[in-house]
Amino acid sequence: MRLLKCYLIKNNNWSDGRRITPRGVMVHSTGANNPTLRRYVQPAPGQEGYDGLMAAIGRNLYNNHWNTPKPDGYNVCVHGFIGLLADGSVAAVQTLPWETRGWHCGGQANNTHIGFEICEDGLDDPAYFAAVYREAAELTAYLCELYGLDPLADGVVICHAEGARRGWASQHSDVENWFPRRGRTMDDFRREVKKIMEEDEEMTDQQKEALFEEFKSRLTGRDIAEKLNAYLAPQEPPEWARALLQEAVDMGLTDGTQPMRYVPRFEAALMARAAAKASKDGQEVNE
Ligand SMILES: [Zn+2]
Repeated sequence: MRLLKCYLIKNNNWSDGRRITPRGVMVHSTGANNPTLRRYVQPAPGQEGYDGLMAAIGRNLYNNHWNTPKPDGYNVCVHGFIGLLADGSVAAVQTLPWETRGWHCGGQANNTHIGFEICEDGLDDPAYFAAVYREAAELTAYLCELYGLDPLADGVVICHAEGARRGWASQHSDVENWFPRRGRTMDDFRREVKKIMEEDEEMTDQQKEALFEEFKSRLTGRDIAEKLNAYLAPQEPPEWARALLQEAVDMGLTDGTQPMRYVPRFEAALMARAAAKASKDGQEVNE
C-alpha cells in the first residue's frame, strides 16, 4: 500500500470536529469516470507539504476538487481516496483523520465507519480494477489492524450499497455497480482483507530480524538522547543523597538542577576542576 496524507482542510467536514470510535470501514466508489486523484484531492495553498503533494497528485485545472467547503454543492467528505497519482501509479490518500466523523454515507454509519472512495474509471479496465481493488483491501486491512476489527464479522467491512440495505446509509449502489462486473463480490473483498491481515501476522523470524535492524538503523543518537533525558529529567535523586547534593550545590560544584540527567565528560571535568580548586582553597570537599 502507498498511503499519502492530504487533509481536506477547506471542506466543511474538517471544521465539524465530531469524533468517532471506528467500528468498521465502508467502501465507496465515485460513480464518475475519472480515475485520477487530482479530480478530488488537492492541497490548499500554504497547506503543510503543499509542493510535494502537488507534484505527486498533479494539479486540478477545473477547481472541482473536494478541498472546498461543499464539493459539487454538497456537504460531503470521506476519509480517503484511492486512484491514480500524476505518474499513473495507484495510491491511497488519507483526507481526514480516521477518527473524525466523516460525511460519507448520509446515514448512521457515519457515526461508526471510516469511509473511503475508490475513483472509478470506465469500469472496463481489468488492470486498473486489480490495482485499486488490492490497494483498497490493503488500506482496509491496515485500518482493521489499527482499530482491532475483524473484517469478516457482521457489518464491519461493508460497501455503501450494503449499508443502504441495512438502513445505515443513503440509497446508493456503490461498489456493486463495479465489483461484480470484474468478477468480485464484497465477500471476496472481505476475504482478501482477512488474508492480508493473516499474511502480516505470519512474519518469519528472518523478517522480524530485518525489521529490527531497519528500526535500529533509523534510530539516531539524538532520538536515544532525547528519550533518555525525557525519562530521567523528572526523576528525583535517592533520599540518602539529597543532603550531600545540597552541599555540592553550596560549594558551587553543580547548580543542582535535573540531578538525574546524564553528565557529559566536559561537565564531569568542570565539576572535578571546581572540586580541586575548592580543595586547594582549603575548603572541605569530602565528608
Ligand atoms: Zn458511496
